[in-house]
Amino acid sequence: MSSLLPQIPIDLRSDTVTRPSKEMLEAMKQAPVGDDVYGEDPSVNSLQKFSAELFGKEAGLFVPSGTMGNQLCLRAHTEPGDEVICDYKAHIFNYESGAAGNLSQVQLHPLHGKHGILEVDQIREAIREKAYWNPWTKLIALENTGNKAGGTVYPLERIRAIHEFAREKGLLLHLDGARLWNAHIESGIPLKEYARYFDSLSVCFSKGLGAPVGSMVLGTESFIRKVHRFRKMWGGGMRQAGSLAAACRFAVTHHLEGIRQDHIHLGILAEAFSKIPGVSIDWETVRTNILIADVSGTGKTAAEWSALLKEENILVSPFSATTIRMVTHRDVTPGMIDTAVTVFESFSQPK
Ligand SMILES: *Cc1c(COP(=O)(O)O)cnc(C)c1O
Repeated sequence: MSSLLPQIPIDLRSDTVTRPSKEMLEAMKQAPVGDDVYGEDPSVNSLQKFSAELFGKEAGLFVPSGTMGNQLCLRAHTEPGDEVICDYKAHIFNYESGAAGNLSQVQLHPLHGKHGILEVDQIREAIREKAYWNPWTKLIALENTGNKAGGTVYPLERIRAIHEFAREKGLLLHLDGARLWNAHIESGIPLKEYARYFDSLSVCFSKGLGAPVGSMVLGTESFIRKVHRFRKMWGGGMRQAGSLAAACRFAVTHHLEGIRQDHIHLGILAEAFSKIPGVSIDWETVRTNILIADVSGTGKTAAEWSALLKEENILVSPFSATTIRMVTHRDVTPGMIDTAVTVFESFSQPK
């Protein structure tokens, strides 16, 4: 009989797959709403104010996605022909559909950092002379935690050093903080302390925090006014968005601490998966809720591993030909972790 019941998959593809809880849906239902293009949605206004205070910035703007948040910041900070320095694993470079070139007419200058983390000297070398034939270096964009790097946490000392350097050179600094929540939980460093070094940041409510939709751009009031105009231009002006804002507010208030559990779960998964002969894991990167495991030594490709695990009801992302990615989140229960560990153990035993 039980085999006829639909089985809930253990979905480790991303922390974006979470569904709103009953309590969150209730908060969404209760939210007062208005037309946000007129600036009249009380729930959106309240989330923007709350977020600005949370991150110690002058103002915030609610946007539909992290991609739009990042790209609006690039647009508002730059002019066509400018250049933006980032790590070669950066989300803005890999996963935003070439938006920087298309929407802002800027060039990205990706550098080879270690685990998604740049050195000041590398950035210094990459800065171009302001000759008319050069792209003009305008902005440095960091990512914390680093997604493609495996959920790595930027050391605060490094952020400070890059900030100092950017100041000295007259460059602006942006943070893709889609998972800054995870960095904060892992390091214990306050969100405000991270935020203060950046001219702008974009954070997601729809990753580990578990809101269905929504990101926040943060910066000075004059910067946010600029971003507001571009958001409308790009079709990101929303009307009664208050129910979404209420979900985001609920997520910050009720789900932030839960991220700690995701990190514990990830550690358990990493430990068990690493025991499979031929699997290799760079333990330096296992810090938060993302695991990137190299399966090249197993004699199977990432796609084959993904298919094999899918047969066991475990969904993972084939991340490259030789690596798979697993991400923990609030809809992965302790019971699911136990099940996944048992499955991984079955692959560790010689058959
Ligand atoms: C998810 C993510 C984003 C934004 O993604 P959206 O799907 O557009 O909300 C930006 N940066 C990083 C590092 C991410 O992981």
